Amino acid sequence: MAERVLVGAGVGSGVAFGPAFLLIKHDHNGAGQAGRRNFGDVKIAMDTVAGELEQGQSTGPTADVMFAISAMLRDPILLDEIKAHMAEGAGVDRGVRGAFSSFARQLNKLGGYFGDRSADLLALADRVVDRVYGRAEPPAMPDYPYVLVTDSLNPMDAAKLDPKRVIAVITAEGTPTSHSAIITRAASLPTVVGVVGAGEIVNGSDLLVDASSGQVFVKPTTEERRRYTDAALRATQLIKVIQEEVDLPVTLLANLGSSFEGKNALDAGAEGVGLFRTELLYLGREQPPDLEEQIYEYARLFARFKNKRVVARVLDLDLDKPLPFLKPAGSGRYKNRGLQVLLANEEVLVTQLKALAQAATYYPTVDLWVMAPMVLSAVEAERFAALARAAGHTKVGVMLEVPELAEPKELAKVLEVIDFISIGTNDLTQYTLGASRHSGSLDLSDVRNPKVMSIIESVIFQAKGAGKAVGICGESASDPESATHYLRLGVDSLSASPALIPRLKAGLRASLDA
Ligand code: PEP
Ligand code: MG
Repeated sequence: MAERVLVGAGVGSGVAFGPAFLLIKHDHNGAGQAGRRNFGDVKIAMDTVAGELEQGQSTGPTADVMFAISAMLRDPILLDEIKAHMAEGAGVDRGVRGAFSSFARQLNKLGGYFGDRSADLLALADRVVDRVYGRAEPPAMPDYPYVLVTDSLNPMDAAKLDPKRVIAVITAEGTPTSHSAIITRAASLPTVVGVVGAGEIVNGSDLLVDASSGQVFVKPTTEERRRYTDAALRATQLIKVIQEEVDLPVTLLANLGSSFEGKNALDAGAEGVGLFRTELLYLGREQPPDLEEQIYEYARLFARFKNKRVVARVLDLDLDKPLPFLKPAGSGRYKNRGLQVLLANEEVLVTQLKALAQAATYYPTVDLWVMAPMVLSAVEAERFAALARAAGHTKVGVMLEVPELAEPKELAKVLEVIDFISIGTNDLTQYTLGASRHSGSLDLSDVRNPKVMSIIESVIFQAKGAGKAVGICGESASDPESATHYLRLGVDSLSASPALIPRLKAGLRASLDA
């Protein structure tokens, strides 16, 4: 038996065996640092790190990821926040960390994709503080193949990993869809993130890392190693075969948060985009992005999805306070969320709808669908459909994320004016069960609570009866058990994070064969 088996979230697939190398992070409490540093030093350091990110790579998904993160570092709102912290007496370390963490909190509140971006941002705070104090490079790495074990990995260090030396990566923190994980997956490095107990791994211990199952074996026996590696290899081959021959009675689509993830989605086998979250374009701004800027971002996405479906969702912010350019809307638990905010700020919605329609004219083979988030009533759905059609859209839908909209009479009216329904199980679960998706008290399996599942079932039944397409785009669509159930209920599409699509395909295929 291995000394211990640790578990985390696997990124991609693959198995690796080798000695652990522990990368210990610096102590950033700032004590004993020579010379006082001011905001000007921080500004230069932020710029330096952004420049390093931009120059780190020249092509491929890694370059796109770097570019996206460097944009966060150049965001004037983030700089202003650091300045404010320092003006209140915080030193460099507290100022940078405080501002990064409040910016990250805003991202986190958006949940899903944006929540995962917050880990990328936080990981960069270390790097910025290092630069302010002139601490340059991490310690020298071994010159033999090793498994990198660290508390967190920032995207820039991930991109610099030497593929001849690093054979796998284990982190104590992080999520499978953080930018760092996107980078290690793109480099085909078996990676397991969020490993509980990673801090207890001893330098030099033999590790067996299985990215498919998210398991890390500490000091595996020879027999175990051989057996395990054989089985893992067979499983990897099987998934490949399944992927090649797969012909599922459902369209598998990807959830994306920006155009740079398009390639990952296609590589993972997505047939198109089932949820394009557009929030990143708006976050942290004083003014909404203008028509041209939006057209550019949408066209960049469409360029990758010729002859494929792209379902774009208009803005849905989930913040305590609305953005400066949005009038607040609504009250109660849905306050300032979803379509009602856009209807109270119609010019913002109309500009977004126009930009999407305009970008699609550059890529006429893209099958563009547009949908509204957190729709609360048939009246709202009707107004959205009218505005979308006036902007030139022909496939117009709504997300079903609140139980009130699933009331059969209300839903019947909605179905008269729209072309499709996408069920957002993340919000539907929290609002049906009265629990918060941000507090950590909800689990993916809560969607199978009878109260939630009966709503999902009746919505699918009613939409199909009305001849309208219905899909699932919440996280539960990537859970093979829930997805199999949805498929049997007759959903037309399932949309999941790109990283989870290969295993979803394999899981669906296996359960349909059973
Ligand atoms: C959902 O609520 O299920 C959903 C897909 O939307 P988001 O996670 O962006 O709120
Ligand atoms: Mg939602």
